[in-house]
This record gives sequence, C-alpha cells and structure tokens, in this order.
Amino acid sequence: MKCKNVFKTMAALAASALIAGSVCMTEAKAHYDEEEKPTWEEVEELLDTYDPDGAYILRVVHDDLGEDVLQWIDSKETLLGEMELMVHESTHSFEHQSNKWHTMDIYTGHQQSVRVTYQEVFPSHEMIADIPESFHQGRFHTYIGDNSENVGANNWGIYGLLDEFSAYCWGLNSVISLYEYFQTEANTKRCWEYYLSSSYSNYLAYAEFNCYILVYAAYAKEHYPDVYQEIMTNEAFKQAYRTIEAKYRSLLTRRNEQLKEFALQHEETIEDGYLTVQGDLHQIEDPYFDELIAWSQKPIYQAIYQELVGDAAEATGFDSEIVQPMSVERSAAVSEQEQTDHSWLWGTVLCLGILTGIVIMIVVITRV
Ligand SMILES: [Zn+2]
Repeated sequence: MKCKNVFKTMAALAASALIAGSVCMTEAKAHYDEEEKPTWEEVEELLDTYDPDGAYILRVVHDDLGEDVLQWIDSKETLLGEMELMVHESTHSFEHQSNKWHTMDIYTGHQQSVRVTYQEVFPSHEMIADIPESFHQGRFHTYIGDNSENVGANNWGIYGLLDEFSAYCWGLNSVISLYEYFQTEANTKRCWEYYLSSSYSNYLAYAEFNCYILVYAAYAKEHYPDVYQEIMTNEAFKQAYRTIEAKYRSLLTRRNEQLKEFALQHEETIEDGYLTVQGDLHQIEDPYFDELIAWSQKPIYQAIYQELVGDAAEATGFDSEIVQPMSVERSAAVSEQEQTDHSWLWGTVLCLGILTGIVIMIVVITRV
C-alpha cells in the first residue's frame, strides 16, 4: 500500500481493511513519483476524510488568507511526517488572521474560535529563574530561553504561549485523527515511524507549554500584579486555555489507547517507555514529561490552574488521566508476556514447596 495515497476510495479501503482485521505492515509500492508534492486538493481530501478540524484550519488559511499551506511539505513521500507541522503552522496563521494588535483567534475545535485580546505582557524570558535548570531542554531554548528573542511565545507572554500550546494541540490532533489512515492506507513501517515521531514530539509539548503557562501566571502574580489581574479577568483567554488544555489532554489519552492497540495488533511490545516496530525501538514516553507534570502540580501552580479553569476544574480533572504514567496502561500484550515470563517463578515456588514437604516428612519419619 502507498504511504500517501490521498486520492481515491480511502473510506472503502479503510472499512474493508478494518473488517479483515489486517495487522501486517506492507511494503510501500509507489504508483507515482513520490518526490512530487501533493496538490492542495489531495491534502484537503485526506483531511476532510480523517481530520475535519485540520481541514477547516487549512481551508481558512489557504482559501481565505491565501497562504501557501503546502510550503511545509517537501513531497508526497514525506507528507504524513510533515502533516502535523503543516497543521501547526497553519494554526498560527489562523489565530493571527485578524491582523490586529494584541488580538488572537484561538481555534477551539468544531469550526469555532475564541477571540482573545490583551493589553499588557512581559517577555516570557523573564521567568527563567522560576523554571528549574533541569527543564532547560527541549523547546525551552526556542520559546523561553536565549534564542527566543523573536518568537511570539516570548514577546506576547502568556498569550503567545497559549498560541503555541494551541498549535501543538491541533498538530497532535491531526496525527491522532489520521491513525485510521495509518492502519489501512499507510500501514508501512516508515509511515508508522512518522506517526510515532510526530505524536511523541507533540506529547512532550503538552507538558512543556502547560508548565510555561502556569509558571508565567504565577510569576506575574508575584512581580506584575496588573498583568496577572488582566489574565485572570480575561474570560476569553481563560475559556480558550480551558478548552485547549482539556482537548490536548484527551488527545494524550487517545494516543495511549492507539499505541496500546498498535502493539496488540502488530504483536509489538511496549516496555520502559519504548515501543518496538519490527525490531527497532521508538521512544513513546519520557521521564522529562512526568517531571514537568509533577512540577505543574505544585500547590502554587495548581492554584493558578484552578483559577484559570474555574468551575470547569472538576470537570476536566487536571490530575487525572495523563498524570498517570502510561506504564499503568501498558498493553495487554505486554501484560500477557509478563505473565508468561513469571511462570518460571510460580514453578520454582511450587517445587520448593514440594521439596520442603518431603524434607519435613523425612524428618518426622526418621524421628518416629
Ligand atoms: Zn509554533
């Protein structure tokens, strides 16, 4: 099957392959020049079928704003690996479509957006001292650290951080939404590697940007009371944050389910944060993620979170779902293997029990 067959009969093929319970990866058979760029219509058709939110964002950017969304794609061959980047960057364009000063339209799903306006900010860079050095890795350097001079996440403070949080969320949404396509049309090792690397990268971004947003607000509370006051009275900002944060968290849960399903269907294993794909190890969890989540749960940041999400806190449940490391949800395949692996232990215990019984009997008999 082709890696990028975005052309025809996708739904029919997907349905028939699912019914057949296909679990075998197939070799890519190119029926076209894979170096060729996909057309806008091909991308639109693929997203219309699998990722309606991505299709809507791209359509606004392509049709209404007149931007070349395909600039983020190198070729048909790499389309699935670059899809999340295209949706991510298009989300930024979407959110700045008003072209007005200190105004963003945060996309919240189902063709809806929330217009967020603001006045005062301080650069995100200023809060570095409140971010532990062990977190000075990953996206920190680009968005908060020394290299962040010209990025919105730094210059527009917490509002720029939300813009980035949202872009990573919709990027992940695209990967997760295309899972069915990976299972059927793109069921090759290379395409699964695209799925794994894209979803892993965007999984980390949740913990990073959620942490930055909470630290920013806490820093504002201490050093910039006016900025803090504006954040906490900005209902549009709070609504957008609440929606994106909950959506992002639900995607992480869905990702865990998909990884588990993939491991079972393809008879691969998940162990110590890694998933095997035909003998190759792919990282799917990271201790850095867990450390960021744990940091975000400090009382000072929990209080900020509660204030941001308000009454919705209980409904969204910050400390549920993803806070549980995926290891507690490891695939049944892994559990079965562990059960098999532990069978020797039970055998040994049984043998020792029988031997002990025999020894006791001998002692009793000889004494008698
Ligand atoms: Zn971005």
